[in-house]
Amino acid sequence: MPTYKIVILGGGNASGYAARALIENGLKAGELAIITEENYVAYERPALSKGYLVGAARLPGFHTCVGGGGERQPPEWYGEKGIAYLTGSRVTKADLATKALTLESGEVVSYDKLIIATGARPIFLTEFKTPGADLRGLHYLRDVKDADALVAAMAATKEAGGKAVVVGGGYIGMEVAAGLAANGLPVTMVFPDERLMQRLFTPQLAAVYERLYEGKGVKVLKGVKVTGFAGADGKVTAVEYVAAAGGEAQQLEASLVVVGVGARANVELFAGQLEVAAGGIKVDGQMATSVPDVYAIGDVAAFPLTSIATGDVSYVRQEHVTHCRLSAAQAAKAVMGLSPAPYDYLPFFYSRVFSLSWVFYGEAPASTTPLHFGDTEEAKTFGCLWLGAGGQLVGAFLEGGSAEDAALLKSAVAARVAVAAEGLDTASSAATLAAIKAKL
Ligand SMILES: Cc1cc2nc3c(=O)[nH]c(=O)nc-3n(C[C@H](O)[C@H](O)[C@H](O)COP(=O)(O)OP(=O)(O)OC[C@H]3O[C@@H](n4cnc5c(N)ncnc54)[C@H](O)[C@@H]3O)c2cc1C
Repeated sequence: MPTYKIVILGGGNASGYAARALIENGLKAGELAIITEENYVAYERPALSKGYLVGAARLPGFHTCVGGGGERQPPEWYGEKGIAYLTGSRVTKADLATKALTLESGEVVSYDKLIIATGARPIFLTEFKTPGADLRGLHYLRDVKDADALVAAMAATKEAGGKAVVVGGGYIGMEVAAGLAANGLPVTMVFPDERLMQRLFTPQLAAVYERLYEGKGVKVLKGVKVTGFAGADGKVTAVEYVAAAGGEAQQLEASLVVVGVGARANVELFAGQLEVAAGGIKVDGQMATSVPDVYAIGDVAAFPLTSIATGDVSYVRQEHVTHCRLSAAQAAKAVMGLSPAPYDYLPFFYSRVFSLSWVFYGEAPASTTPLHFGDTEEAKTFGCLWLGAGGQLVGAFLEGGSAEDAALLKSAVAARVAVAAEGLDTASSAATLAAIKAKL
């Protein structure tokens, strides 16, 4: 049975960064194996809903760590470093007591230390027994296989003059809808919320993006609950829905449907073997789980996060690439015995749709007052500040703007600067950012 000093289970976004960080911290050739179900070594997953859909991104162009400004690590890179990368290898059993992982092939790999990086998977509508959810033509987007299927379906739908529907108004739904529209497909977005990205966007922010989408020909159907899918010959032909407030059932013609309604952490392999929290694997500030020599990183890890707004600590999962990169670096240090300072994470999200690009740092709690700035009519550079007690900045959103502007807002949120709303020239994003800079 092959035994490695370290095994990373899951070869997704976080694993590529973990491999790099392990090497930076003294890993030697022959000490690491990465085991993954996918047929590819680690890549920057966010590209799948952006460049991939418009043909601008294809492997090997976006292997980690290019998204974080690092070296691209194609399969050869791992070979040169003496890392065994087992692609196309699903782990079907993880025995944390005997430190043994069983692959679908029956092969058993054992380890001294394990880093769990199994990520997350989409929430499938079949889980809710939504009628018609198993029809062909319904797509989810998590990996290259899904993205290839979607690209092929887009081309076929376009050729047949068909219509596309996106179920979900979060960032996956928004990015996919933009990708479908950029490919010339008629697109309708449907979701039960009152507005796009309801968990983050204020009504004013959402209105800007909704206007943009409508301008690009995307219909945005809000406050709508999907009740099922109609089909013919096993293939979807329509999405059935009712208004969230109730009323008559209605249908939307659709030969291509993309569902983006959230994700679940892949924790089942470890059921009953370690502590869980927030739907993920509970870790401490070193990314160590409740089982000795076992660590977890990326989407699957539930780590202690101190709220910027309240100072309270709670266990959270973050399905974002910056957390997956930073938690990978943190675990690599811990695994190599370097006892890093506890993980200190500032929540950060970003997205790119059409020619727009936004960033968000911190939190946007309902208890705070959002203060909008910039020109939302022109929709080039604008944003929002979430101000807590005493004008303390706890969250900042920026559309457009430079990398320096984003870095400024990140520092300001991290420092929880006090912003005086009165007297701030919020009509101008430049003046607002300058006023914040003066506080740092
Ligand atoms: C379409 C899309 C767009 C995104 N866009 C953004 C964005 O714009 N900004 C942002 O911040 N974040 C974005 N994200 C989120 C980001 O990609 C994730 O946070 C990141 O991929 C998490 O990395 P991970 O390594 O934890 O998990 P993953 O990248 O999901 O990797 C997990 C890997 O483990 C493998 N695996 C799971 N179980 C097993 C098993 N039993 N045996 C073997 N292998 C297994 C999986 O096949 C997968 O390869 C996006 C995600 C998606 C899906």
